[in-house]
Amino acid sequence: MFYLGRVLNGYGREVGYGIEIDDAGTLARLLTAEEAAAVTAGLAAERESRGIEARAAEAFGLGADSPRVRRAHVITPGLVDIHCHGGGGFAFPDNYAEEEIATAIRTHQRGGTTAMFASLVSLANPLPQIEALVPFCERGELAGIHLEGPYISREKCGAQNPEVIRAVDEAELRSWLEAGRGWIKTMTVAPEAEGAQRAAELLLEYGGKPSWGHSHGDGAVTRAEIARTLEVARRHGYTPLAVLAGAGTGAGSGAGADARQAGGAGTVAGSAVGQEAAQTVTHLFNAMTAFTHRAPGPIREYIQAARRGFISAEVIADGYHVHPDLVEDVVDYLDELDLGAASAAELGIPGAFFVTDSLAAAGMPPGKYTLGGLAVEVRDGACYLEGTDTLAGGASVLADQVALFAGRGKLTLPQLVRATVAGPVYAGGAWDAPGVTVDFTPGKPVNLVAWNEAMAPLAVVREGVEISHS
Ligand SMILES: [Zn+2]
Repeated sequence: MFYLGRVLNGYGREVGYGIEIDDAGTLARLLTAEEAAAVTAGLAAERESRGIEARAAEAFGLGADSPRVRRAHVITPGLVDIHCHGGGGFAFPDNYAEEEIATAIRTHQRGGTTAMFASLVSLANPLPQIEALVPFCERGELAGIHLEGPYISREKCGAQNPEVIRAVDEAELRSWLEAGRGWIKTMTVAPEAEGAQRAAELLLEYGGKPSWGHSHGDGAVTRAEIARTLEVARRHGYTPLAVLAGAGTGAGSGAGADARQAGGAGTVAGSAVGQEAAQTVTHLFNAMTAFTHRAPGPIREYIQAARRGFISAEVIADGYHVHPDLVEDVVDYLDELDLGAASAAELGIPGAFFVTDSLAAAGMPPGKYTLGGLAVEVRDGACYLEGTDTLAGGASVLADQVALFAGRGKLTLPQLVRATVAGPVYAGGAWDAPGVTVDFTPGKPVNLVAWNEAMAPLAVVREGVEISHS
């Protein structure tokens, strides 16, 4: 099977002009421009010899009988969404029967999201949901679980149920992490919550991480919590991006500078492969103390920590949760990190990345749905608490966000790929998860999206299997 078109890897680097996938679903090779042209020429010759049948097949689209070649404007790895509550009519906090979970996952997969975390919300007892989601993680259909609450701010609870929000309870958190069997990769905690630092330590101990947010805290408490978490994370083996990029050590600084001067595409000072963020921000800007010029608060702290490579920031880039101009500003600002002597661009890891925060409504028509027991409605392409203007999670799939921002033309395609592949993979530590391809490596199962010129997905391949095409 051939997919022809400009190929970008998950870091946004151009690596070829086509992809050949073998019968086992693994990458046979990346094609050069000449090889891609040869495939096209070979196909044309075959069609010529087959006469009218072949011309008819062409009229119905290439490969109507045996699809062996698909042409795309551009080909990228499958997208990765690490904050997602559901889709296709089902939300993980509410609908956790096996078939409901599977439908929600499939909705995102068919839309181009080949790997995702399942997000819960604040619940009195999330154990049944955690236990239902773990088998999907173990089968490779989910890359992890995200607990959004309940140790968050009642004042900034967004669309969550304030009655179950509470102070950190170490015993119950430990019981959830045990039940999660290593799959609880991240948990939204308010930095000002009572016991927040203890929660961060426990999460890191169990292979997860804190995601700061849903917070009414100020800048000082946020800054202190980020710094304390960095210290704890270092003890758990976390390596800051500045070190990976070649800065921060005597020898490394020189190597980084040399590599940057050597310049050229493909010159990589260091590698973040297999590494992950120590902490993340849950939907930067949404559900946190607002930014003002006299009190820039947590938003400014998060942006500066991300700029220095100490935190990775989610942005809901659906066009509703954050003004698109601001999404572009912050993604652009955090695409080039301040890592001392080294250049973050060479690592290909951005400081901000896209999430959907989608709920049952993703992939569904306007109407009424539930989230964490609360009634919500989709109208005009966004999702609100019923009868209010409070946004209640998203209704997009990640590919919609790529199309939106590609169409606006300010962010480059490489930036958009970093924001939806390398960024979330690094933030979530999902390098080895099924459904994840960052670099197209021969012999590895392929996860890709083939896009048309409007940046709508033409075909989606997950673990070597084409799961949708138009
Ligand atoms: Zn959420």
